[in-house]
Amino acid sequence: MPNRDLFDDIIEALRRRQLNGMSAAELDSANAGAFFNPVPAAPPAGQSASAQAGVPGISPSEPAMTVVVPKAGTAPPAPFAPPGPAVSAPPAATADRVGGAGDLAALAAIVRDCTGCSLHRTRTNSVFGEGSGGAELMFIGEAPGFHEDQAGRPFVGPAGQLLDKMIAAMQFSRESVYIANVAKCRPPGNRNPEDDEAAACLPYLNRQIDLIRPRILVLLGAVPLVRLLGKTGITNLHGHWFEYRGIPTMCTFHPSYLLRSPARKKEAWEDLQQVMKRLGKDPQETMKKMSRGN
Ligand code: SF4
Repeated sequence: MPNRDLFDDIIEALRRRQLNGMSAAELDSANAGAFFNPVPAAPPAGQSASAQAGVPGISPSEPAMTVVVPKAGTAPPAPFAPPGPAVSAPPAATADRVGGAGDLAALAAIVRDCTGCSLHRTRTNSVFGEGSGGAELMFIGEAPGFHEDQAGRPFVGPAGQLLDKMIAAMQFSRESVYIANVAKCRPPGNRNPEDDEAAACLPYLNRQIDLIRPRILVLLGAVPLVRLLGKTGITNLHGHWFEYRGIPTMCTFHPSYLLRSPARKKEAWEDLQQVMKRLGKDPQETMKKMSRGN
């Protein structure tokens, strides 16, 4: 079936309870087979070609945490590449204004008219982010693309549609989580945010995180990995736990990369299952309950 993928299968299984009566072993087999059997999809038009591309390493303007918890049964990741050259500190005026925003609405109003970096000259809309202000799960991407710039909303293009499926497979709704980006304005041509742009915009994201205080952050792709944690190497570091601003943080692949490389969806789903378990949503237990008709 065209455009059908791993996350469609998971969602359909959840919806139809088609695993009724399966044993635990059969459930495991289903996970390894039907659930982890991606169908290649054509690269979407208008998507960032750089979601997983190497980006210049930086030292975030605020120190990130560096704890890494290896996945059970796996070797620790290779030593991290040292952070790249430091970027300039965020403009003092921006930091002052951000600190004065007492809630998300006030912060969004500041972002709407922000001229803190050159990206404001080419944007159609700034894209603040959206979701529940009380979300326990927050996803962080890199920057708006064409569709997001037009709509003023995050992840509404083809990559956003896949992210919606990933969220649904995790048994959350888009409305119950929070979705934001490192940069709030679209870089021309969907390139990665430059050092000065990311540095100028990071105080907004940090303030969002501090206001929402989710239980878990999920970084989507290489850009938030390097901008928030100062790390490179998403291929090796996805699926490992970090911490940012005191919050457990999981890194996984960006949905636009998964659209281009559907074979990676299996690994992304494994990463997301770790997040589910940490939030008390054990995928296997859920499937077993479904099989019992609970
Ligand atoms: Fe302001 Fe961020 Fe947009 Fe730059 S990208 S203009 S810092 S909101």
